[in-house]
Amino acid sequence: ERMISGELQDVERDIELSLRPENLCQYIGQEKTKENLRIFIEAAKMREEPLDHTLLYGPPGLGKTTLASIIANEMGVQFRTTSGPAIERAGDLAAILSSLEAGDVLFIDEIHRLPRSVEEILYPAMEDFCLDIIVGTGPSARSVRLDLPPFTLVGATTRAGLLSAPLRDRFGVHCRLDYYDASALCSIVERTADIFHVGIHKEAAIEVARRSRGTPRIANRLLKRVRDIAQVGGETVISEETTQTALRMLQVDGEGLDHIDHKLLTAIMDSFKGGPVGLDTIAATIGEESQTIEDVYEPFLLQTGFIQRTPRGRVVTDKAYSHFNREVPGS
Ligand code: ADP
Repeated sequence: ERMISGELQDVERDIELSLRPENLCQYIGQEKTKENLRIFIEAAKMREEPLDHTLLYGPPGLGKTTLASIIANEMGVQFRTTSGPAIERAGDLAAILSSLEAGDVLFIDEIHRLPRSVEEILYPAMEDFCLDIIVGTGPSARSVRLDLPPFTLVGATTRAGLLSAPLRDRFGVHCRLDYYDASALCSIVERTADIFHVGIHKEAAIEVARRSRGTPRIANRLLKRVRDIAQVGGETVISEETTQTALRMLQVDGEGLDHIDHKLLTAIMDSFKGGPVGLDTIAATIGEESQTIEDVYEPFLLQTGFIQRTPRGRVVTDKAYSHFNREVPGS
């Protein structure tokens, strides 16, 4: 089982819901984004209008869904959610749009995966709050325009570049979520421990934070496992030592890399002399999907400087060699 996978099990979904901050004050970190949203929300409320359509982008688990639900709470409106892959036909989206109430926030996760035919009915809906539908068939077919209540579309995607330009341009507000720094993650770990009713020593919380790849979802997942191990060991307040043991058992190393990161990095070192090597070749070598590598695993490895992207492919860095106690070739 992958600690950093983007997929969620149902049980996990329930736990995530219980951990979800409800307003901007409870949402830790992402200061710039919060500051902007706070102003936009306040201005929209003063004008008694819905917030502009908002695009949230960044790697999985950084809090896009959470932020979307917070926007709905702060605006005092209903939160409706769906996702790109769940909407197969234009009619599916038309049904969702026509059931919205004035001001509602409609959240579409993985919006880059909307089929093109569906995307096209979203354009007039976003721009003019109307729906163009075709009734009848053959020569008697005609287009009918239905009015929609004004609403806010919040779209989430792992990379803004995956969106078509016409869709991207229809979002008035663009927010990029960044990886969290250690102190923000530490606060998130302490907050989660509080909700779980377990005590945790500061050093232990720092350790979980440090190894969470800058990602709240991973921090919460690691904490859950660490808590289990502490509980079985009869520990009432989670200690640093137990945390270290738990993380070793979970095969998360000191930099927060797990066995798949190891597989990816060592494959490039062993089979491709450190690179450059193309993404598809790496994917085939380690048996993962290229898209998953690019969206989920690679951003963190790039950000932390274990790999670099070059026009000819990925290369591992000296930092990666020294992380694995290996000599840099040719040095
Ligand atoms: P995404 O939609 O980007 O994949 P989510 O919004 O589902 O991420 O967040 C994943 C988990 O991390 C949720 O349990 C959420 O409560 C928690 N989380 C995310 N961002 C924050 C934050 N800023 N403060 C506290 N918890 C957060």
